[in-house]
Amino acid sequence: MVALHLVPSFSVCLLPVPHGAGQEDAEPVTGRPRSLRANSLFSEDELVEDYYDAPPANSGSSWSDNGPSPRLPAPAFSGSSPGTLGDGMEGTAATAPLSPTIKAGWLDKNPPQGSYIYQKRWVKLDADYLRYFDSEKDAYSKRFIPVSSISRVTSIGDQKFEVITNNRNFVFRAESDADRNEWIRTLQQIAEERKSKALERTLMSPTTSGAADPADKSGFLELRGFKHKLFVAVAGDKVFLYKNAEDYRLGIGITYIEMNVGNVKEVDRRGFDLTTPYRIFSFSADSDQEKEEWVEAMQQSIAEALSNSEVAERIWVVESNRFCADCGSPKPDWASINLCVVICKRCAGEHRGLGPGITKVRSLKMDRKVWTEELIELFHQIGNAVANQFWAANVPPSEAINPASSSQERRRFLIAKYREGKYRRYHPLFGNQEELDRALCAAVTTSDLAETQALLFCGAAVTCATGDPQCPTPLALAEKSGQRLQMEFLLHNKNSETPRLEVGTSEEKPYSVPLPSVTHNGFLYKTPSMAKPVGERKGQEEFSRRWCTLQDGVLSYYENDRNAVPNGEIKVEEIVCLVNNPPNAHGIESTFEIYIESERLYLFGLESPDSAREWLKSIAKSFVHPRAEELLALDFERIGRLHYKGGLNLERAKEGWFALAGSTLHVCFEDSERQEPLQLRKLQELSIQGDNEVLVLVERRRTLYIQGERKLDFLGWVHAIQKAAGSAGDTLSEQQLTESDVPLLVDRCIDYITQCGLTSEGIYRKSGQNSKTTSLLEMLRRDARSVRLKEGEHQVDDVANTLKRFFRDLGDGLFTRQWGQDWLRATALEDEEAKISEYRRLLGTLPTVNRATLKALINHLFRVQRFSGENQMNTHNLAIVFGPTLFQTDGKDYKAGRVVEDLISHYVKIFNVNDQEMKKQQDEIMAIMKMREAASSGTQQAGDFICTVYLEEKKTEAEQHVKIPATMTAEELTFEILDRRKIVMKEKDYWSCFEVNEREEAERPLHYSEKVLPILHCLGTESYLVVKKQMSMENMLIYLASRVGDCKHGMMKFREERNLLGLGLSTGFHDRYFILNHTCLRLYKEVRSHKPEKEWPVRNLKVYLGMKKKLRPPTCWGFTVFYENEKHEKQQWYLCCDTQADLREWFATFLHVQNGGALWPSETSKVRASRSQQDSRLGNISLIPLRGNESEMRNSVAAFATDPLTLLRNV
Ligand SMILES: [Zn+2]
Repeated sequence: MVALHLVPSFSVCLLPVPHGAGQEDAEPVTGRPRSLRANSLFSEDELVEDYYDAPPANSGSSWSDNGPSPRLPAPAFSGSSPGTLGDGMEGTAATAPLSPTIKAGWLDKNPPQGSYIYQKRWVKLDADYLRYFDSEKDAYSKRFIPVSSISRVTSIGDQKFEVITNNRNFVFRAESDADRNEWIRTLQQIAEERKSKALERTLMSPTTSGAADPADKSGFLELRGFKHKLFVAVAGDKVFLYKNAEDYRLGIGITYIEMNVGNVKEVDRRGFDLTTPYRIFSFSADSDQEKEEWVEAMQQSIAEALSNSEVAERIWVVESNRFCADCGSPKPDWASINLCVVICKRCAGEHRGLGPGITKVRSLKMDRKVWTEELIELFHQIGNAVANQFWAANVPPSEAINPASSSQERRRFLIAKYREGKYRRYHPLFGNQEELDRALCAAVTTSDLAETQALLFCGAAVTCATGDPQCPTPLALAEKSGQRLQMEFLLHNKNSETPRLEVGTSEEKPYSVPLPSVTHNGFLYKTPSMAKPVGERKGQEEFSRRWCTLQDGVLSYYENDRNAVPNGEIKVEEIVCLVNNPPNAHGIESTFEIYIESERLYLFGLESPDSAREWLKSIAKSFVHPRAEELLALDFERIGRLHYKGGLNLERAKEGWFALAGSTLHVCFEDSERQEPLQLRKLQELSIQGDNEVLVLVERRRTLYIQGERKLDFLGWVHAIQKAAGSAGDTLSEQQLTESDVPLLVDRCIDYITQCGLTSEGIYRKSGQNSKTTSLLEMLRRDARSVRLKEGEHQVDDVANTLKRFFRDLGDGLFTRQWGQDWLRATALEDEEAKISEYRRLLGTLPTVNRATLKALINHLFRVQRFSGENQMNTHNLAIVFGPTLFQTDGKDYKAGRVVEDLISHYVKIFNVNDQEMKKQQDEIMAIMKMREAASSGTQQAGDFICTVYLEEKKTEAEQHVKIPATMTAEELTFEILDRRKIVMKEKDYWSCFEVNEREEAERPLHYSEKVLPILHCLGTESYLVVKKQMSMENMLIYLASRVGDCKHGMMKFREERNLLGLGLSTGFHDRYFILNHTCLRLYKEVRSHKPEKEWPVRNLKVYLGMKKKLRPPTCWGFTVFYENEKHEKQQWYLCCDTQADLREWFATFLHVQNGGALWPSETSKVRASRSQQDSRLGNISLIPLRGNESEMRNSVAAFATDPLTLLRNV
């Protein structure tokens, strides 16, 4: 029935169409009736017809261009025997190229089921396939039957014979009985031969039975001209087309394309053409990625078809080379030319993944150029047998792979085998570098390639120094000894990595990623490499001029630019550090140092700083990991990789990239995308642990441990970082600084005077002891970070004098030489306002550090004069002392004192001090005064203020009496309380200190950085402090992290309490629309209002959770807000949210805005908090013992992680 409708539709092309390439090329790719093309190959309709044939189907064509054949009944099908996968696959695996035709001729092919018409077919038999075609001119068959699948051929009368395969039968009719018998005889003979060959092969290599090479790529593809997708398989040098996956499994296909005449071209996103001289196959894949894979597979197939097997045949002469060195697959036609192993295609793919530093993969058939006589001979000498004696000396059976292993299994095995060298036979000298190198030098002069192999892959350096000036490298030695094969082996392993077992994830070895290939060359001056730091200045005569090339990841230096053999080489992947020396550090103007992994140092020099910079950039670019490429843009003094540990997770050292530029250490941590700058002068601590093993850097937010994995480059880093972190000179900006850019020295002195000297009579006027001042100043200048000033140990007058002397001796005065005179001139301005604005202008011109320092100092003096009743130092007296000091005028210019006096008097205006800041200061002064009063009355010890703090709730048993020093923060207080109760602070336990206002029935969590003392002094009788968990913190943090921007708006219920007026006027709750941004809270009557009804600066708001019940809040999610304006007028109002989540979001936004985003301290700052708290009580002892070996350090940190304060108790 199908045949009937086909005749008209194809009648137009019944004329034989020539199938030349020109014909096909002339045909447009699109828009032509598909029938024309179908004629040259096979028709979709035939497939349709076959499709309707229930299997086992005897396929046939739907029409004959030779006219109708005699109608005959369809033959009866003989029962088909079940096929096996192996049988079916063998056909596809046969790759004999262009087998000669054994027999060909016209036969009638029996009609498909339901049809009576026999079709004339051109039938061709070769050693592998029985195929039939529409005509003898056709290149592509309508059907192919692998000879290997033919089980029997029988005569069935009427000149007919039947080809019986394992699963389908095909009936043909010859012209005569003689012809028929001839076909039967030939077919039987070929099939017989085939079977015995297959048997022989199976006996030869029992391990490989049933492991025929599978298709390189298979799957469904659309082929233009066909309604249904075809199953396509690329295998070896052929592409096979099947009607469906079942046929593919059975091995009986439509046709195959010999790829030696193929050409693949991408057409569009999913489409690609396979062009042959006979036909264009226009395929279309399901996706562009699929398409890429198909194109690649077909191109590979073409390459294979064009390859020649001469090399392979020669390599296979050695028995052990006939099976893959890794998995045992037969006929491996790939190789690793540095490892000298012959491998199968699938293993070759995994070898490639290891990178060329481990294995260099080449094809035996396609990479013809690489196969020199020497290399082929090397494969005879080493090859799979000798290589595996070394590499696979100890393979546990459970880890071995076989031809059926998956990609992952292969990858795991190959990494272990070649990258880690896990199964290798260790050379007796393993671990002894010098001995290994010496043995290598000896081995290369002999023919013992196995020894060279063992030495090389156990760590001998292929470029080690031989000590022989005539033959500086093993390669040269081998050459001198006429060892061609040794030379060949060394050459291929020039850049090979020594296998090593990695701790942790070996697959993520950072420098296994391909580094950018950088090329640079020119003459450089060079000294011999060294094993210790460059101690002394090198004279010019110590350098030799060398031609240097940086290429393919190797920096080579040659005697001159005409030499072909380098004197030596540095592999860029071995470089760990690159140092740009300061100009004229040596006898040549610009010099730089290269440190390599094996603890050697190379010193290079150049007369031109510009060229030196180019070299530096090129070398840096070649060895710095791409993820740290940001560092390359810096004007670094030193760049390289180091191991570090950070945070509280000290289990595993990570690899980071570091660059030092000025006083900033730029770090690309292993797990972060961007480089992070560490201001070394602002470090809180910098120390060395153990015997120069670990460098500890403590920054406000974190603690970083840099580990000295190698001595040579680490020592260089330590010295450079220490130098960069110290005071570089006698100007302000060269000092160690605080977070707010005030020299640490100044900060330390001011802090001390504030705590101990505010009420000391004649402070800053009394001179103190000269010798003590001198030594203290020297100590502070050297490393203010490590100096702790302590009451009893240091006299206030000595400290005060130290501060003055520091300013007087500054390299460029506080007001700078450039602007100093302008400040002095400003005192002449009579108009007060004009004078203030001039001071403000001048303040703006000062460098940041000077400005910050001036503000800190004047703020300090402002406080000092507030105590003039006790210390006798009013503004004028302070000005007389500080004017000449700060202007370095030695008292000759009275204007100096005037400037200081003005600055103190107009401190608030000139420095733009806002109310809040001012109020805070006043509170602090109040607190200090109260403290002093208490001290003088003898009730308390000086410097302490004892208050009651509750744990979790207000009850007597929960009472704790805590001494509160002026500097104590809420966070420190929290730790103090938890410590006393031995409470372990776990992660996500947000222990905080709350200020509870009983009268208002509201509470406020103190910000962790808030100073406690001023709060205590403001607490009314109905308020107290309690330490408890902040239950909503986590949700608030999640909310803040998830939202965009720092605003919030929405409806809330609002109620005002006008207790200011004393009216107690209650207006009830009303819906209002609020917008909270980073500066203001605005209230609108309704959503559509344009102008806010009220507006408050957020910083002046104090927000408490909860409200008085007697206000009858409409919901239980409310908060109370206190506001104090410039005139110290207080307002109080109430807000209510509809849901708890809403309340939380509003509250989180308030906290976020008020604290610049920092709601909760990071882990490491908590460490800091405790440390400084502990410092204040216990002096100079650190919370985490910073001295000690690594395990001590780890233990103490582990202890800290479980109970932050256990360590304190042990001190
Ligand atoms: Zn293999």
